[in-house]
Amino acid sequence: MEALPWVGEATPVYVYDFAIVAARIALLRATMPPQLALHYAIKANPMPELLAAIAPLVDGLDVASAGEMGRALSVKPADAISFAGPGKRDAELEAAIRAGVTLHLESEGEGARALALGDRIGGAPRLAVRVNPDYELRGSGMKMGGRPSPFGLDAARVPALVKRIVAAGADWRGFHIFAGSQSLDTAAIMETQAATLALADRLAGESDVKPPLVNIGGGFGIPYFPGDAPIDTAAIGEALGREIARYDMPVAIELGRFLVGEAGVYLARVVDRKDSQSETFLVVDGGLNHHLAATGNFGTVVKRNYPVAVAHRMQDPAEEIVTIVGPLCTPLDRLADKVALPRAEVGDVIAIFTSGAYGASASPSGFLGHAPVREILVNRPR
Ligand SMILES: *Cc1c(COP(=O)(O)O)cnc(C)c1O
Repeated sequence: MEALPWVGEATPVYVYDFAIVAARIALLRATMPPQLALHYAIKANPMPELLAAIAPLVDGLDVASAGEMGRALSVKPADAISFAGPGKRDAELEAAIRAGVTLHLESEGEGARALALGDRIGGAPRLAVRVNPDYELRGSGMKMGGRPSPFGLDAARVPALVKRIVAAGADWRGFHIFAGSQSLDTAAIMETQAATLALADRLAGESDVKPPLVNIGGGFGIPYFPGDAPIDTAAIGEALGREIARYDMPVAIELGRFLVGEAGVYLARVVDRKDSQSETFLVVDGGLNHHLAATGNFGTVVKRNYPVAVAHRMQDPAEEIVTIVGPLCTPLDRLADKVALPRAEVGDVIAIFTSGAYGASASPSGFLGHAPVREILVNRPR
């Protein structure tokens, strides 16, 4: 029978287990080179309590809006926070400069605006340059390089901007090179990291200035689907250590999903059970309004089912094939398609695992006017 510990919680709810997050960070600290800085990309899961628990365990926080910057500043000093993302408004640039947060410039125009704002408010802005690399991370769920991009400057345009911001007296902070996300291909990650450091070294030479930090992105994937295997962090760490030793540049990685994805479960309760033609449907009390990614509508090419279970019958054998849908009036609201499960009745709780990243904050919670989802953090430190 064996039940998930949180089966008694009011639904719908996300439960994040901090013990799992802490174990992921410990795994990275044990396998990555000791001199490598570890950053958390907070867009993966910005829940305030979770962020507060993660902050002391990582070296930096990467944010992508003034809203995220505000949350980050409440738990980490400004010099450990960097702000990337296209289309930063003047008010956002100014807030970052006043706070002392590092801006990752996404274009020459943004660089010019940041320098002008720095002049006007009388402070040297902390500026890094984001590079659109001329390669992509192979096997990446979301390709971020090797093509025209709203993110970063094409590598060939970078040295001119670096020289301009250094000449203008800005506080030069280095390069940010992010080539992809959700890769489960260990060899591809190692190759990309080597290429990224080589590119940073070349750009440093062409810019006539050393980078105080090279943020090489992340891209570490997690297994979601049958057949997915975890990446080999020990192999990656060993190779990265050798690469870092070839250059004289401090290096950081930024990870989101890898730190939090497997630490979250989404729980929703069966409201209705119905048969239609040859299929059985379980209708639960939350859907894509809370968990867009599980319905396959958040950056996935092929829709596959997240790992799912009946929360009070974790160990029981499957008895039937069901399709699990949320309460929204759209055929997109399918949390799991034709899964084999023990029989679940109205009132039972369905658990969707691997839900700690790109969940609540990446879902259209206003759509159809249902209540927002609750989020709780368990096993928090002390
Ligand atoms: C989203 C994002 C990340 C985090 O990606 P994950 O796949 O969650 O690790 C890191 N860096 C940048 C620049 C991002 O936009």
